[in-house]
Amino acid sequence: MTHQQRSTDEPPTSGTDHPTRLAEALVRRDAAVLASYAMHGIDSAGRKHREPSHPYRSPFQRDRDRIVHSAAYRRLSNKMQVFTGELGDYHRTRLTHTLEVASVARTIGRALRLNEDLIEALALAHDIGHPPFGHAGEQTLDECLASDGGFGHNRQALRIVEQLEQRYPDFPGLNLTIEVLDGQAARIAESAARVAGQATGESPLLEAQVVDTADSIAYDTHDADDALQLGLLVLDELSEVPLWRETVARVRVRWSNLDRDQLKQAVIHELIDWQVGDVLQGARERLAQECVDGIKAVRRAPILIRPSAALAEQKQQLEQFLFDRVYRHPQVLRMRRRAQEALRQMFDRYVEKPELLPPRFGHRCRQFGVARSVGDYLAGMTDRFAMRQFGCPSEGLAPLKN
Ligand code: MG
Repeated sequence: MTHQQRSTDEPPTSGTDHPTRLAEALVRRDAAVLASYAMHGIDSAGRKHREPSHPYRSPFQRDRDRIVHSAAYRRLSNKMQVFTGELGDYHRTRLTHTLEVASVARTIGRALRLNEDLIEALALAHDIGHPPFGHAGEQTLDECLASDGGFGHNRQALRIVEQLEQRYPDFPGLNLTIEVLDGQAARIAESAARVAGQATGESPLLEAQVVDTADSIAYDTHDADDALQLGLLVLDELSEVPLWRETVARVRVRWSNLDRDQLKQAVIHELIDWQVGDVLQGARERLAQECVDGIKAVRRAPILIRPSAALAEQKQQLEQFLFDRVYRHPQVLRMRRRAQEALRQMFDRYVEKPELLPPRFGHRCRQFGVARSVGDYLAGMTDRFAMRQFGCPSEGLAPLKN
């Protein structure tokens, strides 16, 4: 699937560099560094709202920078990945997860000579639509908005970058390139197709495929690490999982006498390395087999950046284990219940009294309806802000007891 074709950037009318020379330099750089199947900056379909080219940044560099400077991105630092802040400070937040995804994705992208700026922009934006309290919050907002189209974090990410961020006088949102919007739209299509048991149409760009794969590598690995550190799991329990067992065996070939902490760290590193190596080997073979020599061939080909069948099955077993033992751990479930109850009560309260919303959301109520605007407001909250608002006496919402 592709976003509607839109206008490209206009040539710069001002700036310190000579525009033509600069554009030529960027084209030469991409041609020298990137593979034929990578997304080259010169081939970008542009932005919805026409803008002059930047004097010294490529289109995807600008996208990445706009995401980094957005409020929604900063708020990821206080949004949970799996565990809330009350459990400690060691574990990943949505922001550190995002940075790990970007790191793994750039490694894969560089090895395959893909466009790292585009990869980084896609990675930094991939979870920007998460509401407070992770998937627990997402589920509650989806229920609250059931009669109004529902709620999903991937769709919300597009609402944020296309409308909700208000940072530029000339356009709403961040006016990102069509390629970044398409990459996020592909995540929505993929998730809908998975639910319906159908295949998606055209394949996303390889840069977007890399980010999807890196996301899975990052969360499988760091959720196990976090759960161990928080004491929700012990090392011996993970030995039930074939992927973990095999990774331990690989580590022991190199180091035979590690203590438990050293072993855990070495296994986490090996898990990432092994998966990245597996993805790279498979991707190179598939790219050669499918004779992928450009973007059109990428779109026509099946998904090329993915784990091997053997590793995919083992990852599935690890994910099932984490679901049963970690995501459904009594401590995690208790947090889910409290968070969901808080969000539900706040949703009902703001829908009943939209005048309590900040003025900019009050204005949005007239354009998008009260329920959706309340959903947007709640989804933008950090975990901490949500719990503080929930306990705000002026709004008549008392904090929940444990
Ligand atoms: Mg993610």
